[in-house]
Amino acid sequence: MASIAAAEGGARTLLLDKGDKLGRKLGISGGGRCNVTNNKDTQELIRYLPGNGRFLHSALSQFGSREIVAYFEEMGIRLKEEDHGRMFPVSDKAKTVVEALVNRVRQSGVAIRTNQAVAKVLYGGGRVSGVKLASGEELPARCVIAAAGGKSVPHTGSTGDGYAWAIEAGHTVTELYPTEVPITSDEPWILSRELQGLSLRDVTLTVLDGKGKKVVSHEGDMIFTHFGLSGPAALRCSQFVVKTLRAGKGPVTVAIDLFPDEKEERLAANWGTAARSEPRKAVKTLVRQKLPERLVPLALRLAGLDADAGVANVSKAKWQDLARLCKALPVRASGTLSIEEAFITGGGVNVKEIDPRTMESKLMPGLYFCGEILDVHGYTGGYNITAAFASGRAAGTAAAEASAAARESVISRP
Ligand SMILES: Cc1cc2nc3c(=O)[nH]c(=O)nc-3n(C[C@H](O)[C@H](O)[C@H](O)COP(=O)(O)OP(=O)(O)OC[C@H]3O[C@@H](n4cnc5c(N)ncnc54)[C@H](O)[C@@H]3O)c2cc1C
Repeated sequence: MASIAAAEGGARTLLLDKGDKLGRKLGISGGGRCNVTNNKDTQELIRYLPGNGRFLHSALSQFGSREIVAYFEEMGIRLKEEDHGRMFPVSDKAKTVVEALVNRVRQSGVAIRTNQAVAKVLYGGGRVSGVKLASGEELPARCVIAAAGGKSVPHTGSTGDGYAWAIEAGHTVTELYPTEVPITSDEPWILSRELQGLSLRDVTLTVLDGKGKKVVSHEGDMIFTHFGLSGPAALRCSQFVVKTLRAGKGPVTVAIDLFPDEKEERLAANWGTAARSEPRKAVKTLVRQKLPERLVPLALRLAGLDADAGVANVSKAKWQDLARLCKALPVRASGTLSIEEAFITGGGVNVKEIDPRTMESKLMPGLYFCGEILDVHGYTGGYNITAAFASGRAAGTAAAEASAAARESVISRP
């Protein structure tokens, strides 16, 4: 996106990528379908970019969700909206998006060199002077846009190389951490795989610190895995698990509210009423009418109820225990999977040191940053690609303007 904007803005543009193919991560995004953007206005998009989304206000105002949809439609790629505003190509193939962008890169006259790892960005006379490749070749340039991504899923090429270029230019790189990543747990019932593969719809997850204080809550779907919790709601909570543990405020618990729309007392009362009307039923049979079947043995065990006992023998207090558990099923969180296994890298080049309109470094003229290398991150749902597109477009446009202005000044110099 940055190279297209630069070339279409009139700059002679070279796109270097160390991989053999462009857009590798984009090609695996959205489960291979590429969740390109999310149908929300700028203010809303910012709300779903908890990592410095506000920094992108200007970029998203210029090139937000509506503009992204129009951009792809103009290239003949229609997008469709799914749940929660998520936009996908009608083809359901990420390849469609990658191919459209690569075609546009070519059509806009960008020179492409793949299998070319940038080893260093070159600085001289207080500004950018070019790049040095791993092969030793040096390429002069007035402007360099660092779009090297974060550190997550490194086989796509995003191995965190760009942070060193930023540091050499005097930038700070805020602490990196995994975000939008599955949560790990050492609960015996997680490790025993009792619930592996069980998914829950529309639950609320709450992250609690060691003092039992709420850190954050997120609603959505989740799935139990053999190591912990995954799925959209768990991914959203993950950065808060990491941050709470890193701040020494653990141990962390993730409490699952299985019935966010129902009050604890009502749940307990309903079970009591049902038990009175069908006194001969076994506890597990009655509870199965409400809870997912695979969850019933664990829930009854944790609430101290005998699964095979008759419901007539269950006290009001016991139904209350079960209701309390269903409103806050506690899962001890030992951490998350690694940054390499995360969907997104949290932290990055400090946005305070970047001009939000142009994405140019405030410390090193001619150096621009865009995409995940920045200390900007969003929830899953199309927000990260949107952030990358918006910042890439802003960087490319501004770099082309800066190049043109520099050429003008050379030409007009007497
Ligand atoms: C599995 C997965 C699924 C995802 N799905 C979605 C989704 O559906 N929607 C969404 O919004 N977000 C999604 N994301 C996040 C999104 O893909 C990224 O945030 C986005 O791709 C970041 O774009 P970027 O251009 O900054 O970096 P990247 O896409 O990581 O690209 C960086 C590029 O820089 C190149 N590079 C790195 N170092 C060098 C070097 N030294 N020299 C030359 N080139 C170099 C790499 O080869 C790579 O091509 C997903 C992420 C993952 C891991």
